Amino acid sequence: MIIVIMGPPGAGKGTQAKILASKFNLLHLSTGEILRNEIDKGSKLGLKAKKFMDQGNLVPDKLVLEMIEKIILTNQGEGFIFDGFPRTVPQSEGLDSLLGRLKLKIDYVLNISLDKSVLVKRLVERAKNSGRSDDSEEVIMNRQDVYEELTKPLIDYYHDEVKEINGDGTVEEVSKRIFSQINQ
Ligand code: ADP
Repeated sequence: MIIVIMGPPGAGKGTQAKILASKFNLLHLSTGEILRNEIDKGSKLGLKAKKFMDQGNLVPDKLVLEMIEKIILTNQGEGFIFDGFPRTVPQSEGLDSLLGRLKLKIDYVLNISLDKSVLVKRLVERAKNSGRSDDSEEVIMNRQDVYEELTKPLIDYYHDEVKEINGDGTVEEVSKRIFSQINQ
């Protein structure tokens, strides 16, 4: 099974993606986490990515697509949940073309939505303990703007495939809403 989980920063994508990965035995691919690991390792990719991430801007599509392609190719036969990817229309097109070549397809596109005021409050709260260099209030606001401009259009890209999930409530409540959309 292949799932794409979308939603603005702070909607709880990462938390729900982990729960889904363990329930359905999927490889959880969070591009944000993978990129932060690359930065920690001091790799070439990490060095290139850091300057974009620190400002709350997106890492160039080409770098992200190459990174994801490598992971998918070395884990063929696995199910995946993509968290924070695709994040732009060119990334979606790149993913479609790769999956097409491998005769695979996306089974579910989930979109978690939540009011912007709640999102910002959650992120500011998380920032106190996250240790992430992109968690200052100014960068948090930029990440929301980048989402609106570049990532939100993906809802139209996937249009009738998208399952809308209300992200307001406890982790368990949101998980239940997601599970009810997935036929196993
Ligand atoms: P959040 O959802 O809270 O913004 P992520 O961990 O998903 O956090 O992403 C953190 C940062 O990593 C983003 O602001 C961006 O700079 C970079 N990033 C993550 N995924 C992608 C992607 N698919 N394309 C480009 N940049 C990405």
